Amino acid sequence: MRCPRCGTDDLVQGRYHKVPLSRCDKCGGVYVEIKHNVHFLDALAKDLAAEVNLDTEIPPHEGQDAVALCPRCSGAMERFGYLGTNRVYLDRCGRCMALWHDGDELGTTAALHARTTMRLQSRAVSRREDEDDQERRLHSMMMSRIAMSRGFTMGGF
Ligand SMILES: [Zn+2]
Ligand SMILES: [Zn+2]
Repeated sequence: MRCPRCGTDDLVQGRYHKVPLSRCDKCGGVYVEIKHNVHFLDALAKDLAAEVNLDTEIPPHEGQDAVALCPRCSGAMERFGYLGTNRVYLDRCGRCMALWHDGDELGTTAALHARTTMRLQSRAVSRREDEDDQERRLHSMMMSRIAMSRGFTMGGF
């Protein structure tokens, strides 16, 4: 498969921990099936957390243009903000339901994934009766973002 970002001929097929994926050695981009994406980001975030503090502010940005075509099926790729944010972007193939992670965004994606997961976990533990409305709305919004992302994971399969 050809890299949809930099055009290098051979994406390297392999696994990250147990997760099967294809990687471009040149630009660091990763192509992964949607059903494996959460496991991929879990594993990546765990590895990154051993090296750096992932609980840092992630500023919004515009990101690059979408990659044009899916490397596997040549379907059109659609760009979207991960977890409904404009902090990091993924490309999704509308035909075979696979994802493209740009190499330079992968760390940020993992950080956002880890931060959201960690906040939800700590919030669940520290949830109190006197939680105010604003906090409850925020919690609900984050939950729905996660649910959407998890639901979407199952969608095409
Ligand atoms: Zn590449
Ligand atoms: Zn495709």
